[in-house]
Amino acid sequence: MMTLDDLKPMPSLEADFDVAPALQQVSPDNVGGTGSPVPASTTSGRIRQRLQAARASFFANDNIAAYLEEGELEALQNEVVQQVRGLLKALVIDIDHDHNTAETAERVAKMYLHEVFKGRYHPQPKVASFPNVRELDEIYTVGPITVRSACSHHLVPILGHCWIGIQPGERVIGLSKFSRVADWVFSRPHIQEEAVIILADEIEALCKPRGLGIVLKAQHYCMKWRGVKEPQASMVNSVVRGSFRSNVSMKKEFFDLIRQQESLL
Ligand SMILES: [Zn+2]
Repeated sequence: MMTLDDLKPMPSLEADFDVAPALQQVSPDNVGGTGSPVPASTTSGRIRQRLQAARASFFANDNIAAYLEEGELEALQNEVVQQVRGLLKALVIDIDHDHNTAETAERVAKMYLHEVFKGRYHPQPKVASFPNVRELDEIYTVGPITVRSACSHHLVPILGHCWIGIQPGERVIGLSKFSRVADWVFSRPHIQEEAVIILADEIEALCKPRGLGIVLKAQHYCMKWRGVKEPQASMVNSVVRGSFRSNVSMKKEFFDLIRQQESLL
């Protein structure tokens, strides 16, 4: 089975924001890691050093909650406020006098860390699983689940729906939990092809289904709002695992069920 690691590109050397030259001191701990050096005097620098020491990935679509210490999210938010202020100033917006943008940096930092990208910084919502005592093995599907995400390339919205189908295995989880886990996974910068795989990995880890299928249909604002400006274009992709992959009739039943749900949209 293909894992996420197989799909991830090598770390990019270009992705980091520039820090002020005076702060750009390289400590021995962060030489040769992924990306550019970030000073350990900043909260993001300390978190990053921790991630690198653990050899943990911190790509845009990774969750890093386990590497944040008590109180660090607030400190990180303050750091992001300063950097967004810098961005607005670089865009030559008079944030000192423009009443509309005076608090924008605070709003954007809060929005990134606690709303639209909360799936990077907050731990997974608690999901209780239960033994499949009745040994249910019929397929069921859940959807449409609202997808709110952002593209990793432009940080603009990806909005759509997803459908999840399960042939239960040893454990089951409540229907509403699929939405909660999906929201947590999608609340990160993504590319759609990887987003479904990450969601599939999380659901497999939670309930070890015999079969699992996910279909994601979304509109990308980097195509609607900018770029080619195609307002109606959408992208559909899917992942099927276990019995949905190996058994043709189960795979067909999964897609038939989803088609019925989609026609209700
Ligand atoms: Zn984009």
